[in-house]
Amino acid sequence: MKAVAVFPGKPNSIHLADLPEPSVEDIPDGRSVLVEVSRVGVDGTDKEINDAEYGDAPEGYDFLVTGHESFGRVLEVGPNVQGIQPGDYVVATVRRPGTTIYDQIGTYDMTTDATYFERGINLLHGYLTERYVDDLEYMVRVPAALKEVGVLLEPTSIAEKGVEQAYEIQRRLKVWRPQRAAVVGAGTLGLLATLILRLRGLEVTTLARTEPPTLNSELVEALGARYVSTRRKPLKEAAREYGPFDIIFEATGASLLAFESIEVLGKNGVLVLTGISGGDRMVEIPGDHIMLGFVLGNKVAVGSVNANRTHFEHGVQDMALAEAYYPGWLARLLTHPVQGLDNYEEMIRLLTEEKSAIKVFIER
Ligand code: BGC
Ligand code: ZN
Repeated sequence: MKAVAVFPGKPNSIHLADLPEPSVEDIPDGRSVLVEVSRVGVDGTDKEINDAEYGDAPEGYDFLVTGHESFGRVLEVGPNVQGIQPGDYVVATVRRPGTTIYDQIGTYDMTTDATYFERGINLLHGYLTERYVDDLEYMVRVPAALKEVGVLLEPTSIAEKGVEQAYEIQRRLKVWRPQRAAVVGAGTLGLLATLILRLRGLEVTTLARTEPPTLNSELVEALGARYVSTRRKPLKEAAREYGPFDIIFEATGASLLAFESIEVLGKNGVLVLTGISGGDRMVEIPGDHIMLGFVLGNKVAVGSVNANRTHFEHGVQDMALAEAYYPGWLARLLTHPVQGLDNYEEMIRLLTEEKSAIKVFIER
């Protein structure tokens, strides 16, 4: 069976590998779900894995099959599976439990283990292949009405977790009625965060470097949110004009913006950082100002990574709500389909070079 893989540690080693056929017998307790992959989305993580910045092969292999944003159709289920049947559409979660108490209660996204296991990212093969099998626990059903956009569920789960973390933390305030939000970054994650915050009724300002009009700016505006190019209006100025922001959702990985966000966050506000800043850039910041405002404003900043089954489930609900409020909006994110696993080179090219791409994905 074909799979798209890299040799971890070897830059630009993306290639076609051969995997044994998975079977429902591979998983104990009869709780297995065998899935035919239909689409797999790719993002910056896949690019960085191909650049050999991180990612390790599973035990017994010298390659790692990539792809963590899955969408597929159930082929067969084990004897003890209930609630999912052949023909159903499913998305699988990414991380698998480690050893900590967080892992034991289903919140493996909060693990404190040093090594984490993520399908398509670290120590476990991903979904850029023909079929895969996994435990029912990690399978999330997607209604047929969402089958054209289901491949966006994994990135949606990341945005969902970030926003939920913010609301959870703000229970410290006894009463929190957020009105204004800023989203920093207008890539797939920034767009999905904009959507989720709009669905919660917030006034949203989404900031990105590129000057409008672009598809990204149009998508922001289609949600009734405001698009601001930071070339025309830096974050600080936007905050003066459109803030104070009760919540800022950072989705860029540019570390300077994280500190600027802390600075412009409103009093009692919450900042969610989700960008994975893989580099080792040094930044200069007005430390005293930032700290003073942070303390005097009772502000909070939280990092958020990965997502567990609950966030995927909430993602399905919000995607359905999105189709009701903004019909066709989600599908507009699917800008660059690539036909077949054989075209992995085109996939990587689009991912690295195509500036206008929102979501690049492989279609089988
Ligand atoms: C994935 C997450 C993962 C993170 C770190 C992201 O691209 O979407 O599921 O936890 O990378 O590996
Ligand atoms: Zn990802």
